[in-house]
Amino acid sequence: MNYFYELAKRAASGHSPDKKEIERILCLPYTETISLLPGTDLIRQTYFGRKVSLCTITNAKSGKCSEDCSFCAQSAHHGCVVDEYPLKKAGELAETGKALRGSGINRFSMVTSGKGLSSHEIQTVGRAVRDLNASGIRTCASLGVLKSVDLDYLKQSGLERYHHNLETAPSLFPRICTTHDFAQRVDTVAYARRAGLSVCSGGVFGIGETDAQVAELAMVLKDLDVDAVPVNFLIPIPGTPLENVPGLTPLRCLKIISILRFLLPDKEIIVCGGRMQNLRDLHPLIFMAGASGIMTGNYLTREGRSLEEDLRLIRDMGLEPA
Ligand code: SF4
Repeated sequence: MNYFYELAKRAASGHSPDKKEIERILCLPYTETISLLPGTDLIRQTYFGRKVSLCTITNAKSGKCSEDCSFCAQSAHHGCVVDEYPLKKAGELAETGKALRGSGINRFSMVTSGKGLSSHEIQTVGRAVRDLNASGIRTCASLGVLKSVDLDYLKQSGLERYHHNLETAPSLFPRICTTHDFAQRVDTVAYARRAGLSVCSGGVFGIGETDAQVAELAMVLKDLDVDAVPVNFLIPIPGTPLENVPGLTPLRCLKIISILRFLLPDKEIIVCGGRMQNLRDLHPLIFMAGASGIMTGNYLTREGRSLEEDLRLIRDMGLEPA
């Protein structure tokens, strides 16, 4: 049996790879990525069985962001043409979520542009959360950098999960964003955890990180004990500073998911934006690489895949919606 399968068997029984073993995973040439998949599939099956979680988002407030994240079309620094609108009303947000009842989607997330929200805006989201809870919809919110008191308020309003990406490894972050720092993002994740919220935090890949930086991010997420890790693959957007970066190859995408699965064996790994564009014909292999969930429907500024197509893919792979 291959070396990585033996490593995976140990990871599946609670023994994380040590530094040398991580190094072996990182050094594996991309052309041999497939040799990781029997092991990563075993780890995924150990912790998640045949279940695949499905979440979807709504863009609750769009554009005009004061921050300069170099991959993002919603930053006012880059001059990209995107929809711009203020925070939607609580009733509208709740109705969007309620329309998902019975669809097979596990979680509905309200996502806003900007560094963070005002107290007044947070109260609006809190009202939407209460309404959604009363209708049995599982909620998530992604509202940027927030203070502890705001996250406590959202928890009291019934919010189940807070999403806040760290975006990339701490060693790369200053080249990706200059208007706020990595520590502020870590603080928000820690506040959300302290408030008793489930925490979803991951990043964007294909923005210039090395495999070692994928592992570096994974170790920060492990220390923060997040519950779920969203994985976005960059779709370079014209007008952003990253518009000309070379795309990831499908095998590199699978290796990124595999590294995360080895280092975060029991965490949800949810593959989100850019999965079709970057993985192309290898897209169905995300589950073998270790993904336990996908984001379905449209993304913030890009069209995604329909729920029907994703449900068919899950069944075709012998898996089932969570
Ligand atoms: S990723 Fe978020 S904080 Fe960064 S520019 Fe885009 S909307 Fe603003």
